[in-house]
Amino acid sequence: MLAEEQVHALITPHSPADHLRLAALHRYHILDTPACEDFTFLTELAATICGLPYAFVSLVDADRVWVKSCAGMHLAELPRADSYCALAVLGEAVTEIPDLTQDPRTAGMPLTVGAPFMRRYSSVALTSSDGFAIGALCVMDTRPGRLSDEQRATLVKLARQVMALIELRANEKTLEATVRELELLATTDDLTGLHNRRSLLHRLKFEVARARRFRVPLSAVMIDLDHFKRVNDEHGHAVGDQVLHTLGKLLRETVRVIDIPGRYGGEELCVILPNTPLDGACKFAESLRARIAAQIHYAGARPLHVTASLGVGTFDHMDVDDSESLLRQADAALYRAKHEGRNRVACAN
Ligand code: GH3
Ligand code: MG
Ligand code: MG
Repeated sequence: MLAEEQVHALITPHSPADHLRLAALHRYHILDTPACEDFTFLTELAATICGLPYAFVSLVDADRVWVKSCAGMHLAELPRADSYCALAVLGEAVTEIPDLTQDPRTAGMPLTVGAPFMRRYSSVALTSSDGFAIGALCVMDTRPGRLSDEQRATLVKLARQVMALIELRANEKTLEATVRELELLATTDDLTGLHNRRSLLHRLKFEVARARRFRVPLSAVMIDLDHFKRVNDEHGHAVGDQVLHTLGKLLRETVRVIDIPGRYGGEELCVILPNTPLDGACKFAESLRARIAAQIHYAGARPLHVTASLGVGTFDHMDVDDSESLLRQADAALYRAKHEGRNRVACAN
């Protein structure tokens, strides 16, 4: 067993043990999160049970003590050196200072010598699942005194509830991030980084419904790379893949945030343009065609140009049909563009 002073020496700010403790704290991603009712509720309960006016849930960061919730007085954060709670993470489960003016560690602290002139402090460390004290649930008063055994025991139980809530919030965050990641994986095409076909069609249905509801035009541009078989045949499939990857990036960087670029299949790409009439969509398609043609690809060190043919389809609110007919229109225009010589845009008439 380490002597008490040795434990204190180990967990002083910026010591190696404090770094481990901080890593445990930061894993919870709780610092600087907005106030929320359930933490406030537990904090107010601590004040009520102990019969004291002030209670706080504090987390001891590297150089500051950040307050998650308060009762009796608003506090956002304090320098670590000015906070009683910095003492609560030094190793003991319960820290009790019956008269703050008599303890050399706290006698000179701002909350002791200035308003509200605190006199007593009791806290229970908030201990992470891997055993580090990351902060404290504390109660205070402007008169000296101690907690009863019963109050102390209840405060210990409440601190466990606070810690369980911290764990729960962290788990929820991890789960949300995982769901977002899975969603992204399920809707993104690996090679191009664009919406995959399923996601594209899903978004298209949604945009068709919106165009109908708000009576706004909706356009789609179908893009098919010209003579792409030749690229594969002459330079290999890997070069073909690299071309698709580069054009996926180009497309993502060219569209507006509201547009939906996707890989319709193979070397056919598609962009859905919400709130865009035919002439606007054709202008967009023409600038996209020029950018695709100007893009330099490489087969080893050899530069390589690839062109595309584009077909534009639109419906306005007078003539809203369904997503299939919009794509059919764009596809028919694309067929015309191919027929008329490739590396061009054809617009539905
Ligand atoms: P066209 O100008 O008429 O479109 O000629 P094309 O050679 O592009 O003909 P088509 O569109 O029918 O052929 C598409 C080719 O694109 C066939 C296939 O080998 C190639 N392709 C489709 N998907 C991929 C892919 O993921 N990677 C690579 N490298 N090639 C692909
Ligand atoms: Mg094709
Ligand atoms: Mg093609």
